[in-house]
Amino acid sequence: MAAGPFRITAQPSGRTFGAQGGEAILAAAIRQGVGMPYGCRDGACGSCKCRMLEGAVNHGPHQSQALSAQEEADGLILPCCAVPATDVVLESPHITDEGAFPVRKMAARVIALERKASDVTLMKIRLPANDPLRYRAGQYIDIILRDGFRRSYSMANAPHDGAELELHIRHMPGGRFTDHVFGAMKEKDILRVEGPFGSFYLREDSDKPLILLASGTGLAPIKALIEHMQRQGIRRQATLYWGGRRLADLYLDGWVRERLADMPQLRYVPVISDALAEDLWTGRTGFVHRAVMQDYPDLSGHQVYACGAPVVINAARAEYSTRCKLPANAFFADSFITQADSH
Ligand SMILES: Cc1cc2nc3c(=O)[nH]c(=O)nc-3n(C[C@H](O)[C@H](O)[C@H](O)COP(=O)(O)OP(=O)(O)OC[C@H]3O[C@@H](n4cnc5c(N)ncnc54)[C@H](O)[C@@H]3O)c2cc1C
Repeated sequence: MAAGPFRITAQPSGRTFGAQGGEAILAAAIRQGVGMPYGCRDGACGSCKCRMLEGAVNHGPHQSQALSAQEEADGLILPCCAVPATDVVLESPHITDEGAFPVRKMAARVIALERKASDVTLMKIRLPANDPLRYRAGQYIDIILRDGFRRSYSMANAPHDGAELELHIRHMPGGRFTDHVFGAMKEKDILRVEGPFGSFYLREDSDKPLILLASGTGLAPIKALIEHMQRQGIRRQATLYWGGRRLADLYLDGWVRERLADMPQLRYVPVISDALAEDLWTGRTGFVHRAVMQDYPDLSGHQVYACGAPVVINAARAEYSTRCKLPANAFFADSFITQADSH
């Protein structure tokens, strides 16, 4: 049995908490009010599964459907039944900074489903009016499916009206949740949600100019940041690079252009990677993260906020630091990881 106490550190928030000897990581988190996702607390559902970056744990009894031997060998753990044997560093974007708004489970009603592109739906959900959700622009919620699986979606609106949340959902054919959103789901349906999660929000203690990088529905949390800046009168220079394969992927292009009129500090660079002749596209082409590098070969004086497809986020993180001098602590991101990415 591990002696303890041990220090648990969650990345990317850097939040730390202690675990007593013999205490599972999830139990320690709950005891200290650290918001961490979980379902059964018994090694059966896998809702708490995350990657251990450093350290060692002893797993108590759990079901192989929640954590297979291969996943364990690959460095994944189940915090509900993992007892630290050393200090541990976890990759757990769900865990928020100290002082973050409390994580809560709530029922929400679907009040609008607006198709913005053939594969993008803008969903609005309403929370109980007397109990609005407090969150920071850029954070996300989990939708808890009937079978206990969870899917994460960034709030696309800033929190000035916490009773109504806007989500931008891309259809992933064969996907457990988005097949339902693009199929049987209808207005007035009830969803179970939990949040807010994540450390993607504007660092307001800096006045460095901002690069806002979005691929596809990665626009959602960036839209919330822009709304927040507009509402709070934040005048930092910001350039939004929004990438899609085709013009139709820039499903809120008009919304962005309307903001430009009100926000002189905002610039907008749409980037299309696979335009067809019929798109009549004369703007920037190629990979969206590369367009930033062409315009800003030196990012040492900037902060970058990036959201969307993991391949874009990973390339941006690596190439901006190695080729454009971006300090590691000036890159903030939410990578929209799906089941397809974890297999
Ligand atoms: C922090 C965060 C924020 C996010 N925010 C957003 C957002 O704002 N908007 C948004 O659109 N998405 C967002 N996502 C992604 C979102 O959470 C879902 O992962 C996504 O919508 C797919 O869910 P799904 O249940 O439909 O698909 P899943 O069931 O997860 O499947 C995804 C795809 O993988 C395939 N697949 C499933 N299992 C396997 C397997 N074993 N091997 C290979 N392929 C497989 C499916 O056919 C499907 O095409 C976010 C993700 C994270 C982590």
